[in-house]
Amino acid sequence: MKISDFYGRLVTVQATTDLTLPQVTKLPAIKTNGKLLYCQRCQQTFSKKQFHLPNGVDYCPYCLQFGRLTSHDLLYTLPEPNLFPINEQPLSWQGKLSPLQQKCAQVLKEQAAIKKEFLLWAVTGAGKTEIMFPAISEAIKKKNVFVLQRLELMFAMNSFPVCSKPLIELQLFYYMPTVQ
Ligand SMILES: [Zn+2]
Repeated sequence: MKISDFYGRLVTVQATTDLTLPQVTKLPAIKTNGKLLYCQRCQQTFSKKQFHLPNGVDYCPYCLQFGRLTSHDLLYTLPEPNLFPINEQPLSWQGKLSPLQQKCAQVLKEQAAIKKEFLLWAVTGAGKTEIMFPAISEAIKKKNVFVLQRLELMFAMNSFPVCSKPLIELQLFYYMPTVQ
């Protein structure tokens, strides 16, 4: 693994793994607090011995979809040094927004600039994807993390002609639930 793989992330490593990375912070994946256990990945609390494997090892039931995390695992992390180059024009999208879309986009852009959370909620066909572009652009300029709920938008952001490639490279992290 590269050292940059740990920047700003909680990487699961089995406690038995011989990984010599002296500058990496190691956290127990599951902390004990009396009769309760606390998952340091998803920040959920649950009772001891409520969710355990046949060998008695406890695991977190709340973030199983990201891989089972047990009390024998460690999370390795390093602070994000944010060494990305500043990009003043990260998006190449040339579309036009209607006046109402522009008004909404401006509010979202201002929220992104001050790292404020927001929810964009509108009917299908209202242009939510395009309304998000100025806010996403602002977040990229400020080298902020931007969390998107819609996978399609994440893929759109990472494909021509939305991003001014090769000036910007986005890292996409997502979870695709399986239909039961
Ligand atoms: Zn968890």
